[in-house]
Amino acid sequence: MITPETRSNPSDYGLPDENELLARIAGYFPEFSEPPATSYSPTVVPLGSGYRAPTHNASTPPPKSGNALYIGNVPHDKVRADFPILSEKVDGKPLVWLDNAATTQRPRAVIDRLVYYYEHENSNVHRGAHTLAARSTDAYEDARKKVAAFIGAPSADNIVFTRGTTEGLNLIAQAYVKPLLSAGDEIVLTILEHHANIVPWQIIAEETGAVLRVAPVDESGQIILSEYAKLFNHRTRFASVTHVSNALGTVTPVAELVAIAHGFGVRICVDGAQSISHIPVNVTALDADWFVFSGHKIFAPTGIGAVYGKTEVLEAAKPYQAGGNMIADVTFERTEYQKAPNKFEAGTGNIADAVGLGAALDYVSSLGIENIAAYEHFLLEYGTEQLRTVPGLRIIGNAATKTSVLSFVLDGHDIQDVAKHLSAAGIAIRAGHHCAQPILRHFGLEGTARPSLAFYNTPDELDFLAATIKEIAR
Ligand code: PMP
Repeated sequence: MITPETRSNPSDYGLPDENELLARIAGYFPEFSEPPATSYSPTVVPLGSGYRAPTHNASTPPPKSGNALYIGNVPHDKVRADFPILSEKVDGKPLVWLDNAATTQRPRAVIDRLVYYYEHENSNVHRGAHTLAARSTDAYEDARKKVAAFIGAPSADNIVFTRGTTEGLNLIAQAYVKPLLSAGDEIVLTILEHHANIVPWQIIAEETGAVLRVAPVDESGQIILSEYAKLFNHRTRFASVTHVSNALGTVTPVAELVAIAHGFGVRICVDGAQSISHIPVNVTALDADWFVFSGHKIFAPTGIGAVYGKTEVLEAAKPYQAGGNMIADVTFERTEYQKAPNKFEAGTGNIADAVGLGAALDYVSSLGIENIAAYEHFLLEYGTEQLRTVPGLRIIGNAATKTSVLSFVLDGHDIQDVAKHLSAAGIAIRAGHHCAQPILRHFGLEGTARPSLAFYNTPDELDFLAATIKEIAR
């Protein structure tokens, strides 16, 4: 493959002719499906200092058997009981947490893991020859292995800890893509993107004279593959795309998008903020060059997330921030950097929350992400049916492949008023532009009301949601 690092001029580029391109695209359509999950097998890596996470014993679906709900073979009420905040009352009403696309709640296993870390392991990592430094380093590096195993990365060395998706995308833009850009070069995005996957590219485009090309969606909110492919040309230097739209819930055909980008010798980043907790992800099977996600979207603490990069892109990227931890040797004349991932982790990182992220991934793996995906599919279909019974309610985003999100508008009602009314009933949803203004404006809207699901939600909660919106509609 010709890569942005090796390509020196457009004639190296091997641009296919129109017919070959159309044949290639035609070939993608019948395959339109979830990314392959072939070699996905969550591994629970033993922890260094004696802590053992509690595990469920999950196997296959069904999500519903008679009136009882299951995730794999774990009864649903047992799963819900793992999340202390779900028993919380707000203004005297039981909490119905349907704001999972903004952030998820934490299971007891994650909360306990943080307490254990601070009570038994806390120290800075990578330095110091004492027992607690060894414990915290083991816990931190074990968490990195858990991230690698969870997303199917070949090695923990391919995983960089960041504050979250936003910092990950800024890292990739500044450290890897900006040095590739000259005036007139192009970066391919889609109209579905979250602002975090728009603005970092806009900034480096402004700084270098590069331009952004934006792929459109069809009326269901799905990327049009043939239009996507047309955006690539000999000036394309990079592409970045969301795996799941936070505003509409569209699951994009990301394996196909990666194949199209690679067909043009272009590297591609996948924003996994909204896919990571809902569908299996295998970066190796996807062949993504970069993949980013936030811990707080997958039941882990805030302030921690991860960037996956293929070894060659991590090697090609410059350091993002500089200081301690990322250097091998420093003189006033020159500095030698550590290899990835340390090259990108200057200063003291968010050690405890990285360990918490490892515990969250163990928890999800103990239920089985495939089982979670099956349960949530059932829940999304159920919720969609219930909302369709509300007079004047219009669901925004009807892609054939969708997860978690039920964005809607209600005739004659301001979305903020809808959210306030729901909040008074104990139901937490988000109303607004969801940091994805381009896609909402494409549908002629400045905002939607957005309930968003996680595996701890129930059909009863969705009945209550629909009934409460009906009260507003009356
Ligand atoms: N991308 C998508 C698709 C998102 O949904 C979000 C969070 N709403 C982000 C990026 C940014 O994530 P964070 O705020 O955790 O950095």
